[in-house]
Amino acid sequence: MAKKQFKAESKRLLDLMINSIYTHKEIFLRELISNASDAIDKMNYKAIGDSSIAVSAADLKIDIKVDKEARTITISDNGIGMTDEELEKNLGVIAHSGSLDFKTSLEEGAESNIIGQFGVGFYSSFMVADNVKVITKSFGTDQAYCWESNGVDGYTIKECDKSGWGTDIILHIKPDTENDDYCEYLDSYRIQDLIKTYSDYIRWPIHMDVESGSWAETDETDENGEPKREYVTTVEDKVINSMVPVWQKKKSEKADEEAKEFYKSKFHDFEDPLSIVRVNAEGITSYKAMLFIPSKAPYDFYSREF
Ligand code: ADP
Repeated sequence: MAKKQFKAESKRLLDLMINSIYTHKEIFLRELISNASDAIDKMNYKAIGDSSIAVSAADLKIDIKVDKEARTITISDNGIGMTDEELEKNLGVIAHSGSLDFKTSLEEGAESNIIGQFGVGFYSSFMVADNVKVITKSFGTDQAYCWESNGVDGYTIKECDKSGWGTDIILHIKPDTENDDYCEYLDSYRIQDLIKTYSDYIRWPIHMDVESGSWAETDETDENGEPKREYVTTVEDKVINSMVPVWQKKKSEKADEEAKEFYKSKFHDFEDPLSIVRVNAEGITSYKAMLFIPSKAPYDFYSREF
């Protein structure tokens, strides 16, 4: 298939991403995990509503794999997946673009606010990757599709093979530069850290192969007749996030930090909320709620639609 161009606004935003005016590049991971979690929510919802679908909530998960040699990080989910039409519709344009406002603020040179105003979502991958592949199969269909882009000159969508439904997002991490060590995103410990910092509350398990090492005795003996010891590393599939939702956590400094991260990822804000109001109601119906007050009014606050 011929290469397709991104829609104009998306292209502009992509340029900004690639030239990364935004300093916290690491947020790409939380955006992709959040998308994966939304896709799993949709799958779960579908399965709950249709008893003929034999998918249990216990099978739904996110998997993260890092391949240092290939310089790739893969975020996989067994969520709802996308058809080729959905791929085109969802990843060919920026989901949040209110194109006119967007262009106007660009012309006013307010570039650095733009990402905050629009939410970056999927496109934030281009802050750290020079090539992104999305391999996806929509639940209940037989054909998988691969969306691929190096950011600048558009994207392609091709048929491909994939076992099972869901989505794999494969990021090829940019080469390191004088100012940026992109290889930090190929370090398993760093990725685990990012998951704990930004995505701990995600309610689906985030799995990763985690390496651990310990000293073990061997069959050989040393000159004193003692068994020789060697360092063995083992790789284990582990769930990295606690899966406790932010509103269920007891108030503490850590809980506040997590609530702020939750707010930023959920509501596409790049600034901490001005205030968080917690509600804990107990009665015939008991519930917990959180009210987030943004630090700035949204860009379209005074528009009729808002
Ligand atoms: P947002 O998530 O804020 O809508 P994005 O640009 O991050 O914006 O994603 C655009 C759309 O692409 C999503 O709304 C969703 O429909 C689709 N999408 C992204 N990632 C996935 C995924 N892992 N599985 C299924 N659909 C996805």
